[in-house]
Amino acid sequence: MNPVLVALDTPDLESARSLAKSVRPYVGGYKVGLELMMAAGPRSVAEIAQLGMPVFADAKLHDIPNTVKGAAGQIARQGARWITVHAAGGRAMLEAAIEGAASTGSADCGILAVTVLTSLDTADLEAAGLGSDITAISLSLARHAAESSAEGVVCSPNEVADIAAANLGLITVTPGIRPAGTSGHDQKRTATPESALQAGADLLVIGRAITAADDPAAAAARIAATLPAIS
Ligand code: C5P
Repeated sequence: MNPVLVALDTPDLESARSLAKSVRPYVGGYKVGLELMMAAGPRSVAEIAQLGMPVFADAKLHDIPNTVKGAAGQIARQGARWITVHAAGGRAMLEAAIEGAASTGSADCGILAVTVLTSLDTADLEAAGLGSDITAISLSLARHAAESSAEGVVCSPNEVADIAAANLGLITVTPGIRPAGTSGHDQKRTATPESALQAGADLLVIGRAITAADDPAAAAARIAATLPAIS
């Protein structure tokens, strides 16, 4: 599978759909995130899934287990292939999310636990009183995810090698991807698509490097050309 999930961070469904169609030949799936879900509702997941590629519903759920279970069930019902929850929500919450997703009878919907956001760096964690060792924090959150039987984790490219080396049986998904020489925007822990894959990432979330380009299809094609041959 092409490992690129393009982040459809658009203010309405029509723009998301036209963007998704234009980059379709060069990506492996679509990410529907908070902006689109807030604008067009959870049905945006179902609408994008109709295009025939896996949809990653980046809902970043973080609440008490019962609430997360219900919310995960609602999103799974829309046909999401993956749903994100914050690993920091605790093991009971992760387990509730998995239960909620499974309650729809859709065996295919996996839970991905977000470790430490790629927009945060050591100074941000220290300011929040969370310590300064991002790798150690990410690893312990990944262990948490594995113990809860999540399908995988979302982490920065900087931590993916350590998480992959820990052999936790999790897939790794990395946002914060920027082709060489392009702007990092608000992301602080970034890497190129090639280096994230070399470090062990299974899937790459790519937003603005494609979607903010003058020609998103051409940008996606350029990125696809840098990836190892896809079997
Ligand atoms: O535009 P850019 O490539 O930075 O977009 C990254 C996408 O991945 C955004 O939709 C953002 O919400 C998401 N994401 C992230 N960091 C995480 C989890 C998800 O940037 N840890």
